Amino acid sequence: MSAAGQQKPIHVLQLYPRDMNIYGDYGNALVLKQRLQWYGYQPIMHTYDPGDEFPEQVDLLIGGGGQDSGQDRIHQDLLQIGPQLRALAAGGTPMLAVCGLYQLFGHYFDPREGPRLSGLGLLDVTTVGTENRLIGNTVIQSSEFGEIIGYENHSGQTYLGDDAQPLGQVTLGEGNNDHDDHEGARHQNIIGSYLHGALLPKNPAIADFLIGTAVEREHGEQLGELQAPVTAPLTLDQLTERARETAASRPR
Ligand code: GLN
Repeated sequence: MSAAGQQKPIHVLQLYPRDMNIYGDYGNALVLKQRLQWYGYQPIMHTYDPGDEFPEQVDLLIGGGGQDSGQDRIHQDLLQIGPQLRALAAGGTPMLAVCGLYQLFGHYFDPREGPRLSGLGLLDVTTVGTENRLIGNTVIQSSEFGEIIGYENHSGQTYLGDDAQPLGQVTLGEGNNDHDDHEGARHQNIIGSYLHGALLPKNPAIADFLIGTAVEREHGEQLGELQAPVTAPLTLDQLTERARETAASRPR
């Protein structure tokens, strides 16, 4: 926070909330907004749907999942804004793409029915739709973020190329596909993941990676202490841990 309590702005863009926002993904935007405020910054929240004007400033970008039909509806528009997204990614803007958008941040998604959907190539991954829909609570181990808990529901199976690292290794559930034990993809400041739930309320370390990267790039600062209210009788971290334990203990 700058002098005199004037909160420094961080522009957060949520891509396609109308069509790409299932299994609680909107919660990712709510968590980023609240944690930015608790860190002493002013979140300026933007949404973008087909036909909207693309925001002039984007410091952090997120996008959620959708049915195959939702992906069809936004696909052409996504390709049209592709140059702006590639420029943001090349400049190091932190991004989180979940499930359907994760697939379209790769090279292509071949759905079970219908033509190939070409992707943006922001992540070196490819996806093919299958008969085996992968559904259920999922737990993965990440060297960067520790244990990550979420929920997956996808027919697409994703395979990583040489320029993508997995987000983590699956300990419960399936993840990217039903062959290897990887989930998600990491490249520079981009995170792709199949995990809904929403992902960020249960995994604050990922939220703080996105926020910390945006704050450092935009304002040249490191994140300070989170000034979250202590919610009697549990602290915020205890509440988060409760949510994680509950999710991890649920049947697949
Ligand atoms: N429609 C895609 C699939 O089924 C993505 C699903 C999703 O975003 N949950 O693989």
